[in-house]
Amino acid sequence: MARRKKIYEGKAKTLFEGPEPGTLVQYFKDDATAYNAEKRDVIEGKGVLNNRLSEYFMTGLSHIGVPTHFLKRINMREQLIRAVEIIPLEVIVRNYAAGSMAKRMGMEEGTPLPRPIVEFSYKDDSLGDPLVPEEYIIAFGWASQQDLDDMVALALRVNDFMSGVMYGVGIKLVDFKIEIGRLYDGDYQRLVVADEISPDSCRLWDIESGQKLDKDVFRRDLGDLADAYAEVARRLGVMPNTAPQPSKPTLIN
Ligand code: UDP
Repeated sequence: MARRKKIYEGKAKTLFEGPEPGTLVQYFKDDATAYNAEKRDVIEGKGVLNNRLSEYFMTGLSHIGVPTHFLKRINMREQLIRAVEIIPLEVIVRNYAAGSMAKRMGMEEGTPLPRPIVEFSYKDDSLGDPLVPEEYIIAFGWASQQDLDDMVALALRVNDFMSGVMYGVGIKLVDFKIEIGRLYDGDYQRLVVADEISPDSCRLWDIESGQKLDKDVFRRDLGDLADAYAEVARRLGVMPNTAPQPSKPTLIN
């Protein structure tokens, strides 16, 4: 088979040229990074879990009419996606204070917010993805006012969907990040959910125990990251083969 052309290599995923024009293959790596890649490790199985989980969430979103870049999963680590023009913003939705918001505002992690809050960070590793006001987004031309309104509406729909799905399996959706891309259709453009939705980009707490089931397990050294992600997958019924495997055969005399 001819070697595929690599289009882009990020921290957790690699993009290759797809089989048709306008498509890409998104490969999920096992690499984990935090604190702007100051902390890094390879977590065996993470890429496989995130590929499945992202497929599950993106497919669910499309079923309720939220457009995404996802086309189909190809294998354990790869999915076929539509090529989109990524808007250089991280769109963050928060239901409870945590992480950078809790720090910035001096709030205790887990404090419920009066309503979901949508905020934007400018995607630039060298600047540490700074939080930016909407004024910057318009003034610097990253998105129009109409795009911004559409991005907020899209992010809130994703929040309602993800909150409900997680609540159904005893998990609280504390916050999450999505990326949004432009898809061109002739003279028209639409905004679609792109990148991935996985425990790498969400904060997920067990409702009963408060146990963290997301990348904070890695960021804060709280245990085995792949186990946490496998627990999310198990509860959602994604990857039934994460059930305990039969023990090794024993020799019968
Ligand atoms: N997040 C992400 N990528 C980033 C920054 C944040 O996926 O580069 C997610 C993060 O996992 C959390 C939410 O966005 O679910 C809010 O993150 P926060 O701003 O609190 O930043 P952090 O505390 O992770 O630095």
